[in-house]
Amino acid sequence: MRVKSNSIFIGDDLTQTLLEIPKSLFALAKNDIKEPEAGIDCIICTRHWHQVCALHLDQIWSEGFICTTCIHQYNIKRKENHYIASKLSVNDLSSQLEKRVNDFLHNQGCQTGHVTIRILSSYDKICLVKPQLKKYYPCQAANGYPYRTKAIFAFQKIEDVDVIFCGMYVQEYDEHCPAPNTRRLYILYFDTVHFFQPKIYRTNVYHEILIGYLDYVKQHGYMYAHVWAYPANEGIDYLFHRHPYEQRMLKPTRLQDWCKKMLDKAIAERIVIDYKDIMQDCLDNHVQTVLDIPYFDGDFWPFIIENNIEKLEQEEYANLDDPFESEDSTEISGKRKSVNTYEHKKLKKTTDPMSNSTYLLSTIFSAMEKYKDTFFVIRLHNQITSYSTGNEINAVIQCDLMDTRYAFLSFACDKNYEFSSLRRAKFSTMSLLHELHTSTTDKLIYKCNACRQQCDIRYHCRECKDFDLCEKCYDIEPQHEHEMKRSILSIVDVSQYGKQNSLNVDDKSIANILYKITAMKINATLN
Ligand SMILES: [Zn+2]
Ligand SMILES: [Zn+2]
Ligand SMILES: [Zn+2]
Ligand SMILES: [Zn+2]
Repeated sequence: MRVKSNSIFIGDDLTQTLLEIPKSLFALAKNDIKEPEAGIDCIICTRHWHQVCALHLDQIWSEGFICTTCIHQYNIKRKENHYIASKLSVNDLSSQLEKRVNDFLHNQGCQTGHVTIRILSSYDKICLVKPQLKKYYPCQAANGYPYRTKAIFAFQKIEDVDVIFCGMYVQEYDEHCPAPNTRRLYILYFDTVHFFQPKIYRTNVYHEILIGYLDYVKQHGYMYAHVWAYPANEGIDYLFHRHPYEQRMLKPTRLQDWCKKMLDKAIAERIVIDYKDIMQDCLDNHVQTVLDIPYFDGDFWPFIIENNIEKLEQEEYANLDDPFESEDSTEISGKRKSVNTYEHKKLKKTTDPMSNSTYLLSTIFSAMEKYKDTFFVIRLHNQITSYSTGNEINAVIQCDLMDTRYAFLSFACDKNYEFSSLRRAKFSTMSLLHELHTSTTDKLIYKCNACRQQCDIRYHCRECKDFDLCEKCYDIEPQHEHEMKRSILSIVDVSQYGKQNSLNVDDKSIANILYKITAMKINATLN
């Protein structure tokens, strides 16, 4: 785009003729519309403060806000805030991670604010096998893969207040989970906001958290960990609402190097045995059908598999329909077409289910070949370990607010809790901690009353109290007796779900899928 005198010239390529549009046709707008900040008055001197700067919540200090000037001048003792990170309940995972990170900092001779790590949510879920795959392998495909999901978050005391700076969502598929997911771990999201101090240890601390977690799951008998290292697209937040504008995102190759650096440290510590890309892992494991590829909630491959099966079925349908009808109407002569279709059929689709299955796998492999560099398969044990992964002894931590990233993101979004600056991160963390301690009954997410899965698109009964169904269960006969209203959870990127039907298998759309499913992906800062 170019601006010149009274016109604006628009075009993708500056070397080409640009489209001229008079300035008068444009409406004046601001790039970043900021909401006016909430204000608050000191109850003694009545000076007006930004609520965020004042770090005041009436729920914590019900007597009202007293500014720092008055606190000093009148020697007032401000009531202590008890809703702090270190007072959230601990378990063995959180203690182990916290100890590791603080020991690391201590050993570096780093005098810095204490790091607190807590598991904010931990409960059992099922990764349902998507419908196309289920239809393709009606007998062999599992219905779903049960797993334990955990939300792990890290806080640091900065100027005596907790600041949240790192979070991850993980999926643990234990020894009872059917193959190929047995004893596998999937890191779904890892996200940071760059407030950890001092800055020079930031990357190290992120690595310590990840290595500490790999160490923990290794001790509990997990064999493999999977990471999809793919940075967030601009404007998409994985976990924290509104990242600092100046926080630089790693480019995909830098992010892969970031992961490799972390994994090499873990190898040196004998926590990780080795790591490879997903393609190599499939070859080493002699994957025979797509059913042998590990299948995780929110991962890239389940989407690609669905998509490719659909594409195959469309081809088959087109072929059955009329062998002389080409899919591409711009093609040449009818005779040539029929030969093409025949060859195509012979090469790709046959009535033999075995070779169809092989063909499907080959389409997945060719996608894998292209994207393998972003998918890490990390080996933690050499042989099948016999000990239990021990999720039974890990207490469930039910927390609607942190159950999923959607819940956390929509909470932050609704209440304007930004992480765009240290000032705001302090206030947002304080409010979040208060919420976590008092665990409000506010329902931020909706769970389907039939299948208990979280629904982004939900059908709400107009008559029953608190009755919602997900899209899938809503379609199941017999339908619910009352009229239901469809609504969509309003957060930034719900668009990623429910759209998979429109996806295509070519490169452009794979890039598109990558864009739409912003699933895992590590989002880390440069030092
Ligand atoms: Zn005052
Ligand atoms: Zn202010
Ligand atoms: Zn449901
Ligand atoms: Zn009803």
